[in-house]
Amino acid sequence: MKRIAIDMDEVIADLHKKHLNIFNDKYNESLTPEDLQGTRLWKIRPHDADDILSYIDDPDFFRDLEVMEGSQEVIKELSESYEIYITTAAMEHPTSFTAKYEWLKEHFPFLSDLQFVFCGNKSIIHADYLIDDSPRHFKDFKGEGILFSAPHNRYESGYVRVENWNEVRSFFLS
Ligand SMILES: [Mg+2]
Repeated sequence: MKRIAIDMDEVIADLHKKHLNIFNDKYNESLTPEDLQGTRLWKIRPHDADDILSYIDDPDFFRDLEVMEGSQEVIKELSESYEIYITTAAMEHPTSFTAKYEWLKEHFPFLSDLQFVFCGNKSIIHADYLIDDSPRHFKDFKGEGILFSAPHNRYESGYVRVENWNEVRSFFLS
């Protein structure tokens, strides 16, 4: 069986929606994902960057993120013909461990604990494919990077790009 490594944030968990909502509430703004095409919130609001980046250090931040549409169904289907691992660069936010683990248990109960990989540099991951929204993780990855579309990566090129989980299904199962 071929092995697929799958990122969490912005691939199966909707981090940006919650992050943007917190920002908009706090600063009385109404930014949308359209405003973040090709950039990041902390880059377009540099004076508030430290504050914006601090939201995700809240230990509970990751616990109630919305599940990306279609990810549960498609990962369940992929599990029948591929080895699946959820690979998250959780070392970048160590306070997130418990919330991320509980979130995975709640929303992906058909995966076992041994399919969760909380890691640092993803080049250590030995898989045939890595589905991720951050192209930096593809740099030293030995398999094929599949770029999952997110506002910040809109103008990245040179990778197979999937817009949503329907396209992931088509790529791997057709
Ligand atoms: Mg990500």
